[in-house]
Amino acid sequence: MQNHFMSDTSADTSDSSNFIRDIIDADLATGKVSQVVTRFPPEPNGYLHIGHAKSICLNFGVARDYGGYCNLRFDDTNPEKESVEYVNSIRRDVEWLGFDWHSNPFASDYFHELYAFALDLIRQGKAYVDSQSADNMRANRGTLTTAGVDSPYRDRSIEDNLQLFEAMKNDEYADGEHVLRAKIDMQSPNINMRDPVLYRIRHVTHHNTGDEWCIYPLYDFTHGLSDAIEGVTHSLCTLEFEDHRPLYDWILDNLETPSRPVQTEFARLQLEYSLTSKRKLNQLVNEGHVSGWDDPRMLTISGMRRRGFTPESINAFCDVIGVTKKYSTIEMGVLENVLREDLNPRSTRRMAVINPLKVIIDNYPQDQEERFEGANHPQNPDYGTREVPFSREIYIERDDFMEDAPRKFFRLSPGREVRLRYAYYITCKEVIKNDAGEIESLICSYDPESRGGSSPDGRKVKGTIHWVSARHAVNATVNLYDRLFTTANPGAAVDFHEALNPDSKIVMEQAKFEPAIELTDNAIAYQFERLGYYISDYDSTTDNPVFNRTMTLRDSWAKIEQSQ
Ligand code: ATP
Ligand code: MG
Repeated sequence: MQNHFMSDTSADTSDSSNFIRDIIDADLATGKVSQVVTRFPPEPNGYLHIGHAKSICLNFGVARDYGGYCNLRFDDTNPEKESVEYVNSIRRDVEWLGFDWHSNPFASDYFHELYAFALDLIRQGKAYVDSQSADNMRANRGTLTTAGVDSPYRDRSIEDNLQLFEAMKNDEYADGEHVLRAKIDMQSPNINMRDPVLYRIRHVTHHNTGDEWCIYPLYDFTHGLSDAIEGVTHSLCTLEFEDHRPLYDWILDNLETPSRPVQTEFARLQLEYSLTSKRKLNQLVNEGHVSGWDDPRMLTISGMRRRGFTPESINAFCDVIGVTKKYSTIEMGVLENVLREDLNPRSTRRMAVINPLKVIIDNYPQDQEERFEGANHPQNPDYGTREVPFSREIYIERDDFMEDAPRKFFRLSPGREVRLRYAYYITCKEVIKNDAGEIESLICSYDPESRGGSSPDGRKVKGTIHWVSARHAVNATVNLYDRLFTTANPGAAVDFHEALNPDSKIVMEQAKFEPAIELTDNAIAYQFERLGYYISDYDSTTDNPVFNRTMTLRDSWAKIEQSQ
C-alpha cells in the first residue's frame, strides 16, 4: 500500500480546490470555455459503489460550483451485462447523494449518430472492415515490446468498406465475422492506437434499443463522441484511461463534432478492506456471501444507505480524500470517522441492551415504577427529552458485569456499586446461575437517595452503565456488522474469498430497547448510548424490529468510563 492517510481526518487534504479545478479556472480565464459541462457516465452493469461516489461528487460538484451542469449518461454499449434494474438503481443512488442531473441520456440514444460518424471515417479512408479471426487479430496486434502487423484487409476500398459495414448493420453476418477498425498505426508504441476496433457484431437484445441493432460501438468510439454530442467541456475519468486519451483525441480530431471536449484523468478511489470492482461485487452477491447488492456490509451506495450512512457523510468523505493524479489507498478509519462526525451532532440518543443480563433490584417495590427524563441529545436542547421508564427488573449488558473483576473494572461485580444512567446507584449482592453454571441474573439493591445519579453523602461511583426496564422493554434483533474482509487489500489476494471475515455479521436476537425507539424507517441512525450508531433495517416491523449497527463509537469503554 502506498500513501496512507492518517486515520486522523484532521490531517486530510480537505480543500475543495484540486488540479481539476485549476484546469477549469484556466479554461474559464482564457475564454476557452464559457460554461462548465461535465457528465457522470456509469455503465448500467451493476450497482454504484463508494468509488463511483468519488466520481459523482467530482463531476456534479464542479458543475454546481462553476454554475454549469452535469449529465447522468448511461454508457451502455455492452448489452449482455446491462439491465433496467441497474439503470433504476443508479438513478436512485445519484439522487440520494443529493445531485440533480441536467439530462439523463443513454449512449445508446446516439447509436444513429455514432453510425453516421463511423460512415464518415470510412469515407475519409480512416476506418476499414477487418475480417480476420479474433485469434489472428490478437496475434497481429503485437505486444508492448513488438510492433503489430497490418491486417490483410487493411487496404480494402472505401466502397467495399461502406458496403460491408452496411451489411454488418443489416444483419447479414454472424457474431465475430467482421469488425470495423480505425486505420491509425499498427506500429504505434501505444497499443490502443493499433487500429482499435470501433464496432463489433453482437446479436443480443439491448435494454434500451431492443433488437434494433446487431452491431454495437465500442467504449472508446462511443465515449468521446457522446461527450461531444452533449457539449461536455471537461470529460473526467480515472487514470486507467490515460493511455486511451490519444484515441479519444484522434476520434474527435478526425470528425466534425458539435463540440470538442477534453479528457482529464484522476486517481480512482482505493479503500482498505473493500472491493470496488463491479465484477467482484457481483460475485459476492451471486455466490451468496452477502444478501444482495444492498447488504449493509457492501460498500455500494445502496448497501451504505441500508447500513445507516447519510448522503452528507459520503459527500464529506469525498471532500476529505480530495482528487489527485496519484494513486493512494485510503484507510477505512477515514470513512468511519467521517460518518461518526456526521452522525454525532444529529443522532437521537437512546438506551438499548444488545446482549441482556437480567438484574433484579430486590429492595425496589414490586409494583412501583417511575419515569426519568432523558435528554434526546446531550449537546442539543432542541432535541428535547423523552421519558425513560424504570422498574424492579431491568436488563444490563452482559459485558457490564464481571464475576471476578480486576480492580480497574468500574462496572458491576459482586459487592461493587455502579450508577444506572439517569436512575440510581445499585450494588450487586448475588449472582444467580443455572445448573450449567451460567450466569442467569443478578440480585442487586438500590440506594433510593441516589435518584438522578448522585448521592447526598457525596459517595463516588466510577462507572455508569445503560439499562432497559424489563417490563417496558421492546424485544428486537440487532445485526452487528463489521468489515467484510479481514485483510486491508482483498482485491490483491489470489482469491478474495480467503479474506472474507467470518464474523462480518453477528445476529443478536435477544436485544431489548427502551420503548421510545421508533422501530421502522428512521431517517438517521440512533446513537445507542455507550454502544454506537444503529438504524432500523428495511426488514424491520413493529412486531419484529430489526436494527443494523451502522458504526461503533470512536470511544472505547475505558475512555467513556474515565469521563464519568
Ligand atoms: P467497475 O470496474 O467497478 O465496473 P467502472 O469504472 O467500469 O467500474 P463505470 O460504470 O464505467 O464503472 O464507472 C462510471 C464512472 O465512475 C467512470 O467515470 C469511472 O471512472 C468512475 N469510477 C469507477 N470506479 C471508480 C473509483 N474507484 N474511483 C473513482 N471513480 C471511479
Ligand atoms: Mg467501465
